Amino acid sequence: MIIKEIHCRSILTRAGGYLAQVVSHSLNPYIGCGFGRSSCGVACYVQFNPWIMQSREWGRFVDVKVNADEVYRETASAERAWAKKRGIPFSIFLSSSTDPWQPAEQKYHVTKKLLFAMIDDPPDVLILQTHTDRIVDDAEYILKLSRLCNLRIHISIEGDRDSLPGLPPPPCSLDKRLQALVLFSKQGIATVACLSPLYPLRNPDLFFQLLASEGVGAVILDHFILGDGTEDGNRTLKTELPKVMAEVNKESILLSYRDRMANIARNYLPVGVSSDGFAGKFTRN
Ligand code: SF4
Repeated sequence: MIIKEIHCRSILTRAGGYLAQVVSHSLNPYIGCGFGRSSCGVACYVQFNPWIMQSREWGRFVDVKVNADEVYRETASAERAWAKKRGIPFSIFLSSSTDPWQPAEQKYHVTKKLLFAMIDDPPDVLILQTHTDRIVDDAEYILKLSRLCNLRIHISIEGDRDSLPGLPPPPCSLDKRLQALVLFSKQGIATVACLSPLYPLRNPDLFFQLLASEGVGAVILDHFILGDGTEDGNRTLKTELPKVMAEVNKESILLSYRDRMANIARNYLPVGVSSDGFAGKFTRN
């Protein structure tokens, strides 16, 4: 793993593409991801971004934006004004192309310092998205921020099994990720389990019932088709993931599987499908 400390000139990126329907800005404390060699890294869409990759190997590099909090403090007002001018809330997705609580965070605390900066100058909406229970390390500050802005925690839980045969281990066990969701739910924070990308489920009824009974606020179901930024899942089809999924359940590689699972999930808790879900638009039966 090559870890490099860098100084960024900007930290709040004005959202484009599908993310523009979700938030006004994305915020990535790191470039690259220390979880890139784990199960989620296999089909992670970030590896198809040449600007981020710079001919490097996915999961083998992390650039640490050591001054991210200072730049946030310097630029938040102007970016808030930019959003206001467009009639949209100053809303931040942390993070769209890295994991804010990846292993490097334990040494560099870039995300933690950003949360401090946001406590001093909060956005209107903050979505925290992660694949690991290390988010609980910052529970105290997240709770503070949840009283200052509209905050939602998204934890990626692709399905009801820890791993799929043929994939490397996940960045964090399913059980720990679930526990993190439960912890925040109990504190009254809005929590969302992100099945993104949706893996084949062993027992959908039991799984969605469990999430609902544990107090998880909602689920997002996002298939790799559409979910990877292409109409037909073209990027993901270049990876091992569809083959691995099909070996478990052939139907799971079709978009209709997402809709069938969403219908089941709606019997138990609010459901958001693809970008609607990330934007906080949920429906239930
Ligand atoms: S944690 Fe997120 S950004 Fe990192 S490899 Fe997994 S999916 Fe990609």
